[in-house]
Amino acid sequence: MLLPEPIEQLVLALERLPGIGPKTASRLAFFLLRAPEEIPKQLSEALRDLKSKIRFCEECFNITSADRERCEVCDDPRRDGSILCVVEDPLDVLSFERTAGYRGRYHVLQGLLSPIDGIGPEDLKIRSLLLRVERGGVREVILATNPSMEGDATALYLREQLASLGVRVTRLGLGLPVGGDLEYADQNTLLRALAGRQEMS
Ligand SMILES: [Zn+2]
Repeated sequence: MLLPEPIEQLVLALERLPGIGPKTASRLAFFLLRAPEEIPKQLSEALRDLKSKIRFCEECFNITSADRERCEVCDDPRRDGSILCVVEDPLDVLSFERTAGYRGRYHVLQGLLSPIDGIGPEDLKIRSLLLRVERGGVREVILATNPSMEGDATALYLREQLASLGVRVTRLGLGLPVGGDLEYADQNTLLRALAGRQEMS
């Protein structure tokens, strides 16, 4: 089927989003075409602001507003900079912050190692993590990647990289469902996993 160019472009753009195949992309595009004016307008404004009003923290790569260099956590002098909690994405930071039980700082990898998808160490914020540790002042690195295949592989890789830097390396304790996602863990489970973190041997 030949689609008019603007629809074709929208379908192609939507198809690039995770979890959206050609069928869903077409359905969404036609929904937006028929929808009241304010729905596509709100969406396009939100998309425009996403890149112009949000940026990544220069220190930990968490998200922050575009007028800051460092995020709220990195700028907060009451947070303990000797403990770094390493997570996959900013949503995980949000999960930990919601527990209100963690007073250290973060390092956001912006993904996990995944050879199948062609994602290697250089695609993640790993070099900057090692530099942060090398700079000194960090006592413990908590590897809080998801208990999934990619999360475990990433944690193992980081443990090896951190081994020679004289820092304590821990992994979140049991209680998290295997194959699960930190993002969906309830606050108590997350707090238990944090309290039960173990030395990575
Ligand atoms: Zn930060």
